[in-house]
Amino acid sequence: LSPTALPASELAPALARAGVLVPTCAPGVYVQDARFEAVVQAVARAVRAKAAGAERLRFAPVMPRADLRQLGYFRSFPHLLGSVHCFCGDEVEHRALLRAHNGGADWSGADRASDLVLTPAACYPLYAALAGRGAAPPNGWTVEVQGACFRREPSDDPARMQSFSMQEVVHVGAPLSVLTFRDDWVVRAENFLIGLGLSPRVEIASDPFFGRAAAVLKRAQRTQALKYELKLPVSSDEHWTACVSANLHLDGFTNAVGLEMADGEIAHSACVGFGLERVALALFRTFGVELDRWPEPVRTRLAVM
Ligand code: ATP
Ligand code: ZN
Repeated sequence: LSPTALPASELAPALARAGVLVPTCAPGVYVQDARFEAVVQAVARAVRAKAAGAERLRFAPVMPRADLRQLGYFRSFPHLLGSVHCFCGDEVEHRALLRAHNGGADWSGADRASDLVLTPAACYPLYAALAGRGAAPPNGWTVEVQGACFRREPSDDPARMQSFSMQEVVHVGAPLSVLTFRDDWVVRAENFLIGLGLSPRVEIASDPFFGRAAAVLKRAQRTQALKYELKLPVSSDEHWTACVSANLHLDGFTNAVGLEMADGEIAHSACVGFGLERVALALFRTFGVELDRWPEPVRTRLAVM
């Protein structure tokens, strides 16, 4: 254990006191200072280096509602979705809005749902984009994406943010190549974290499905080993936090957007997602708030400061 390591319960208060990661009045929405941002960017750079050779695409923090609907998101995770609502009334409606607004009443009724939603995972906008290219080439596509994600899970746990950034490597291709990609990345991600001086635990996991069907869906996901998580002790030593996830989607997404291999074979997809703030938090937890006191190999590895 590093002498500068923080106890779990001290992580959030110490980061806030130092001005590194400061809460706002909305739980799970933070102000990050240059030190936190430097670590997040350093982790992102290191992930990109690990994904060398992958194509790079960047998407907006919002995506078409229609594209997310096509992927079936509303069936599984309606409770996590953030939706973009906009005022699109006339002057009469604006006057009513101002009366409510100035009188301190609820004026949100003036907003209507737009054609946009907040992107809940960095890879979601990718599938429609790839489908637009036509059939997948024989080796498929391997794409590295990074973006701001939103999930409606307000919490005081700094590792559970409403707005966070995710870096993913996604492979779309023949079923065996996709399975191999996913399994390789479990090991690569584990080595990546070990290389940063962290000690992850690899576990079979499931997604937080909504509603009555959740238990059945979670069990099916676990039985088929569709999701692995690499966990680290971040804000609790009892409940470790998933800092990287490696997911096999089978033909769930490819089928939804109509993606096939050029020879007509079925295409599958898989992604590995790095929660950049979570990895950064694990590093701050392990090595402390002062970046210049982090071990030399970790600083060199990340090329921070
Ligand atoms: P959890 O089980 O903790 O909700 P998850 O495994 O469902 O997370 P994924 O949907 O697989 O998360 O997302 C990929 C990665 O994004 C996770 O491994 C994690 O590092 C990061 N992530 C997910 N949710 C959050 C969040 N609320 N705040 C910060 N990072 C997150
Ligand atoms: Zn993904």
